[in-house]
Amino acid sequence: ANPAPLITAPGDLTVSFEFFPPKTEKMHENLWTAIRRLAPLNPAFMSVTYGAGGSTRERTHATVTGIQAETGIPAAAHLTCVAATREEIDEIARNYWDAGIRHIVALRGDPPPRADGTGGLGGRGYEPHPGGYAYAADLVAGLKRIGDFDISVACFPEVHPEAPSAQIDLDNLKRKVDAGANRAISQFFFDVDAFLRFRDKAAASGIHVPMVPGILPILNFTKAAEMGEKCNTAIPAWMRDLFDGLDEAPETRHLVAATVAIEQCRYLEKHGVKQFHFYTMNRADLTVAICHMLGVRAAKG
Ligand code: FAD
Repeated sequence: ANPAPLITAPGDLTVSFEFFPPKTEKMHENLWTAIRRLAPLNPAFMSVTYGAGGSTRERTHATVTGIQAETGIPAAAHLTCVAATREEIDEIARNYWDAGIRHIVALRGDPPPRADGTGGLGGRGYEPHPGGYAYAADLVAGLKRIGDFDISVACFPEVHPEAPSAQIDLDNLKRKVDAGANRAISQFFFDVDAFLRFRDKAAASGIHVPMVPGILPILNFTKAAEMGEKCNTAIPAWMRDLFDGLDEAPETRHLVAATVAIEQCRYLEKHGVKQFHFYTMNRADLTVAICHMLGVRAAKG
């Protein structure tokens, strides 16, 4: 049989882009270069992460409000429960509401990295703050008391590292949706069938909001593999093989990374996925190429 045509019908898909707040002037420049290249693709929203333990509180706020003011694209602020009282979190949320930000990505967050190796990305060893929101579901309910925010939450096709079972993790996702979440954005993954099985299980469990795949275009394979290990994201052997020997060949690696992500997205699309969330790592090139192949392009003129 002929291979499927490579270019998707335009206008069919919705995308969103995730950024992290910059620490330095150089990072600020990179971020805004990426935002200015990606905004013309007319994403449904652009979101900005929240550093461990609230360390980026002001920078996240400034980036989120800056994106919405400069591009006119709805911006979403990530917010976590870690190391803060309910009153503190509520105040942050009210400030967003007052600044015209209507979309929050509501997360539990992970404890800061500790000397004994617990905490950090992947999150083992989490203790709720005594006066805080304990889990993301509590945060979603708290946000809804402040304003009718559009709320996204996290979901885990390969199961959250701390969850005792896939079913308990799915029950937790249902609590987040029942509390008012409008969509779930997935942890990054490379086993596309795991995502599709998870999406179908969620629907069968009565979760009827969109499950949006989180796509990580790979800039640095070693780092992605390390992150995957911490987050319970399997790195398939074929992927290790594909990136093998490319550490010192950035251009070739980029072409391979784009191909991997495009194939991943096209497979998902073939199975009915219409929304994609990109972990851009504040770089536009790969994400623009992937979107281009998916038929998501800047309007002419
Ligand atoms: P929850 O939904 O609260 O679940 C966390 C764990 O606790 C799960 O194992 C769940 O099963 C369990 N659990 C839930 N409720 C209970 C309960 N009542 N009793 C016992 N166990 C329970 N982190 C950041 O710090 N900043 C960010 O900006 C950020 N953005 C992210 C964006 C996306 C799209 C994703 C997928 C993740 C993001 N993270 C971010 C990481 C996230 O904070 C971690 O994955 C964290 O470990 C889990 O967050 P959650 O919101 O899924 O937590």
